[in-house]
Amino acid sequence: MSEKQQCCARVYASGAWRSSQCSKASKVVRDGMPYCTIHDPVRVKEKSDARSAKWNSEWAAKSEEMKRQRVCVNACKGIPTAELEAGVLGDMREALVWLLNVEPNHNDVYYSDLSDRVRAIISRLPGEAP
Ligand SMILES: [Zn+2]
Repeated sequence: MSEKQQCCARVYASGAWRSSQCSKASKVVRDGMPYCTIHDPVRVKEKSDARSAKWNSEWAAKSEEMKRQRVCVNACKGIPTAELEAGVLGDMREALVWLLNVEPNHNDVYYSDLSDRVRAIISRLPGEAP
C-alpha cells in the first residue's frame, strides 16, 4: 500500500450538495480499499457499537426508572401523598413488627398462620428482620 494513497470514503463538506472523496491519506486497507483512520470501517463500526451500547444502557436505566415510578404510583393508589411523605409505609412496618411481638394465645389456631403471613410481609419491606 502506498503511503500517499488517498482515503476512498465519500464525504460531504459543510453546505455541499455533492459528496467528494476524503482528502486524508489512507492508513489501512479493508477489503482492498484504502481508508484513513477516521473512515476505517472497523473503527467506524467499533465507535458505532460503543455508542449503541451506551445508548442501550442509558435507555434500559431510564426505562427501569419509568417502570418503577409507574409501579410505585399504582402501589400507592389511595394513599395520600402527605401520608407517604410522613412515612406511612415505615409506620405500617412498625405496626406489623409490634403485632408479631404480641403475646400469642396458643389456643388460637389462627395466630400461627397470621404470624407467618406478617413475617412474610415484613420480609418484603425494607429494614432489618424483627
Ligand atoms: Zn477518510
